[in-house]
Amino acid sequence: MRIVFATGNKDKMREIREILGGLDAEILSMKEAGVFEDVVEDGTTFAENAAIKASAIYKLLEEKDPDMAGQTVVLADDSGLEVDYLGGEPGIYSARYLGKDTPYSEKNRIIIERLAGAEGEERSARFVCAIAACLPGGKMLSTIGKMEGRIGFEIAGENGFGYDPIFFLPEYGKTSAEISPEEKNAISHRGKALREMAGLLEEAFKGGNI
Ligand code: IMP
Repeated sequence: MRIVFATGNKDKMREIREILGGLDAEILSMKEAGVFEDVVEDGTTFAENAAIKASAIYKLLEEKDPDMAGQTVVLADDSGLEVDYLGGEPGIYSARYLGKDTPYSEKNRIIIERLAGAEGEERSARFVCAIAACLPGGKMLSTIGKMEGRIGFEIAGENGFGYDPIFFLPEYGKTSAEISPEEKNAISHRGKALREMAGLLEEAFKGGNI
């Protein structure tokens, strides 16, 4: 079997190889599988966007090589930050929020500003990650992982990326940019969704469903 992950992001590929490494399958990035096209993510939820991406990439692979596609699972993810005080924003627009090219130092500063006056529970937020798998024959599997926290009062930490420096984890007393990558993988939305997907794929492989 081959697993193709629909991302160009090297950090995600490393994490995926670690978490899915136990499966009896070769793990490839989109580029390694010869796919370079971008997919328009026009769904209204994380799960829809992940499914749109996985099935679009599967179709492209099928057009290139139908025999190979019969041995291939395409995985895709979609993730983002939901801030309750902002009505769930930035949500599925996390990457584009406040401008695609605006630096995260600026986006993070503005989010903290928008939460001026919010205290305790009012600052609740979560990272969400949906993973979709498109199996040969068109069957889809999906998982969702969440990491709960609060929007901090200041930017802190150098690890991670994106909104990590304002994502405060009360049980650690630190932001997700201040804990190590290993600690983050163990509790993160993406880690949880990927581990659950690894379990579903293992069952599907064993059950001969693929
Ligand atoms: P995508 O799923 O790669 O499109 O990521 C969506 C966006 O959500 C990223 O560009 C970040 O803004 C945000 N995001 C998703 N996961 C994380 C995370 O673990 N830390 C910080 N920001 C994240």
